[in-house]
Amino acid sequence: MLDILRKIVQEVNAAKDLDGALNIIVRRIQRAMKTQVCSVYLFDPKTEHYVLMATEGLNPNAVGEVSLSPSEGVVGKIVDRAEPINLEDATVHPSYHYVMETGEEQFHAFLGVPIIHQRKILGVLVVQQTTRRRFDEGEEAFLVTMSAQLAGVIAHAEVTGGINVGSDTSKVRNDAKFDGVAGAPGVAIGTAIVIAPPADLDAVPDQLSDNIEGELSHFRHALEKVRNDIRVVARSLAQRLKGEDQALFDVYLRMLDDNALAGEVEEVIHQGQWAPGALRQVVQSHVQQFEMMDDPYLRERATDIRDLGRRVLANMQQECASTPVSYPDDTILVAEEITPAMLGEVPTDKLIGLVSILGSGNSHAAILARSMGIPTVMGVVDLPATRIHGKHIILDGYSGRVFANPSTDMRSFYDDILREEQQLSKGLEAIRDLPSVTEDGHVMPLWVNTGLATDVALSLDRGAEGIGLYRTEVPFMIKQFFPSEMEQQISYRKQLEPFAPRVVTMRTLDIGGDKALPYFPIEEENPSLGWRGIRVTLDHPEIFLVQVRAMLLASEGLDNLRIMLPMVSNVMEIDEGVALVNQAHAELIDEGHEIIKPDIGVMVEVPAAAFQVRAFARRVDFISVGSNDLTQYMLAVDRNNPRVAGLYYSYHPSVLQALQFVVSEAHKEHVQVSICGEMAGDPGGALLLMAMGYDVLSMNSTNLPRVKSAVRGVTTKQAAQLLEDVLQKDNPEEIKSLIAEMLHDSGLGRLVRSTVSNAPR
Ligand code: PEP
Ligand code: MG
Repeated sequence: MLDILRKIVQEVNAAKDLDGALNIIVRRIQRAMKTQVCSVYLFDPKTEHYVLMATEGLNPNAVGEVSLSPSEGVVGKIVDRAEPINLEDATVHPSYHYVMETGEEQFHAFLGVPIIHQRKILGVLVVQQTTRRRFDEGEEAFLVTMSAQLAGVIAHAEVTGGINVGSDTSKVRNDAKFDGVAGAPGVAIGTAIVIAPPADLDAVPDQLSDNIEGELSHFRHALEKVRNDIRVVARSLAQRLKGEDQALFDVYLRMLDDNALAGEVEEVIHQGQWAPGALRQVVQSHVQQFEMMDDPYLRERATDIRDLGRRVLANMQQECASTPVSYPDDTILVAEEITPAMLGEVPTDKLIGLVSILGSGNSHAAILARSMGIPTVMGVVDLPATRIHGKHIILDGYSGRVFANPSTDMRSFYDDILREEQQLSKGLEAIRDLPSVTEDGHVMPLWVNTGLATDVALSLDRGAEGIGLYRTEVPFMIKQFFPSEMEQQISYRKQLEPFAPRVVTMRTLDIGGDKALPYFPIEEENPSLGWRGIRVTLDHPEIFLVQVRAMLLASEGLDNLRIMLPMVSNVMEIDEGVALVNQAHAELIDEGHEIIKPDIGVMVEVPAAAFQVRAFARRVDFISVGSNDLTQYMLAVDRNNPRVAGLYYSYHPSVLQALQFVVSEAHKEHVQVSICGEMAGDPGGALLLMAMGYDVLSMNSTNLPRVKSAVRGVTTKQAAQLLEDVLQKDNPEEIKSLIAEMLHDSGLGRLVRSTVSNAPR
């Protein structure tokens, strides 16, 4: 059964459109279950009815014609209960609703299961037979499993159905909406530019080209190079390989023949597709066919075809690498995963928005985007990236949605928001040089988080009083190798010098989790709980020491450096980390440098650290709370997983209690306690943290003016009252509303646009 299931899902996945997918589903299931009928009903939001979309066994003319309201028929009952119904004779069931067009009166046995995706009932899958009998447990289990697996595919086909790439724009649905997760606030209206990682065939976008000859020659060139490479390898291995293994190379060459893959690719190019897109289409369709084969040997050939395709693509991309890409002035970058290197590729004045297929609101890509002030949507898993290149899109970074082919209504709605945003930033500019102080005189120091080179100038411009977190891994992520001590020293100096005498807190390398170095891959089943942060660098003192030496050297003569250790979960890690910093310092003094030993601090990012914060505080000079990770680990919600993004509550009562506990406990040891997670950059969160007693709030520079405006707009008493009210609540949604309400009541409503809920539908 598992094998049948796998094959059906694969075949459905390969279908061109929703209708194709549904027809495969009904045909295959009817055959696999040996029933007389299999049908799919899907919900149509316009009519609010369940429409018969495909059938094998009922009258085919009823497809698209017959529909049932949610209260009609056994289908309606299934929807109502959200569970399967298995009947010996449906015709005698009280809910039975006879629809003449279907011709179903001859069928008695009935089994229907709901198709549910992310809690939404998309439709119902039904099998029927003429005999009077209950479907057995095995059959029911099969249909339930089938439906659960197909739900995602159907949901995806439904949303992507609105996008079309041909020249026939009449087929393109207006305002096709794709849901994701809010990444960085703001709105962008522009052109989608898809960036595919090198040699990733599946990520290549479709693109029309009128230079058919150019595309053909580009393809042929690359193809010839791959053929040559294969011949060279075959020759060099000729002595060592047996006859049949040697023959494999001939098979590869034949696959690339003009009568095989190459010919097909050329055909697609002739239809107007650019060469990489044509290659992707042809390779994918062959891979899918091979993967569906019963014979394991033939199934394996899918890997060979994919590999050949990748090689041809890599050669095409290499050839293109020398030609600089030209980006439109309104570039909205779309990628499977946004990396710092990609951000650097697009000139900043042309980049107006970011869309990432993977990741979530607290992924590091989103954090970087917020620091750059670029509206971003993350985790738009259903976005057909290969078909959206060059299209006009609107990105709503508040609600986490992307619209393709926007209508004039939609466009003017978002134009208005853009105008309001401009007004707000103008208003905030006015308080740039004013202090961060409450109405009753409480001073709340606002520092910044940095990572990108451009952050420093922006932060100073926005009145930052120090750097509370410099994410040193960011410059590491842009490189091809670990940067040398000298290279690091130079880039650290660029953070320290402009800020002197203000404090700059440098965090030691925090890789792992969603922060990968291309030259130091860490592949783990469960990276968030794995080898990350201090765990990596203590295992590699050579990397740690070079980094700390570079930081110390960069601070010579400035003395504004602090060093901070990430992801600490026990006191031994602190002792070891501090000992290594001391060692690096002693070495440099021996070498004749005059460097004052910096303050050393630790981050509280895991629950174990929160509960033991007093013991930690006794060993260091300051504590900084990383609320992004602390929230992730307290709630057991992966901060990079869009599927659970709705459960990632920064204002969860447990998180708030932990934050309050940490600051109160650490203060008993008289150390400074700051917070550098994203919550500090949220106006409401900042007020709560201020009321809890945090000494410093560190945030991305984009949010600093908003937070300053919030601090300046309240009294300490108001903030304390808010905290008291909030701590009495047990529901994170209610806490969120309470905070928004308080900001509105204090005249700070303009600072919180968390969602654009009244956009045209
Ligand atoms: C945090 O975890 O809150 C933090 C500031 O560190 P990062 O987001 O880089 O993991
Ligand atoms: Mg962290």
